[in-house]
Amino acid sequence: MAIEYTFSIIKPDATRRNLTGKINAVIEEAGLRVVAQKRARLTREQAEGFYAVHKERSFFGELVDFMVSGPVVLQVLEGENAVAKYREVMGATNPANADEGTIRKLFAESIEANSVHGSDSLENAAIEIAYFFAQTDIVG
Ligand code: ADP
Ligand code: MG
Repeated sequence: MAIEYTFSIIKPDATRRNLTGKINAVIEEAGLRVVAQKRARLTREQAEGFYAVHKERSFFGELVDFMVSGPVVLQVLEGENAVAKYREVMGATNPANADEGTIRKLFAESIEANSVHGSDSLENAAIEIAYFFAQTDIVG
């Protein structure tokens, strides 16, 4: 298995409820390492650019509104098979379908306010990391 890097966002519903530490505990217990992290308020332009693949979806406008509604925590996670591993740790997009023990099962409020983002492929992980971090921000 290869060491990979994936991109994570702790979303505004989670920062509002002060859940950054609890979510990081689940991440770390799964064997992933937080190797870069910063709290930020996304601009509308950043949120629209980040979610550009979803711009034709009916929920795009609401999703952007949600992502700029409060602070987020932007993260790079390192670990073996980190991309797939973090998708497992996050759980299904809709918390109603998420497995026990996953971040979304534990903490998500709804299909939209689902507490975390995680990259869906190694290729997208590299693009998403570069969208928010310089290589020198990542300390493995
Ligand atoms: P995931 O975050 O699991 O990769 P998607 O990439 O399909 O899910 O969707 C991106 C984000 O858009 C989701 O995490 C969620 O916040 C929001 N979203 C997805 N589907 C819906 C929906 N049907 N209604 C409202 N928001 C949604
Ligand atoms: Mg996705």
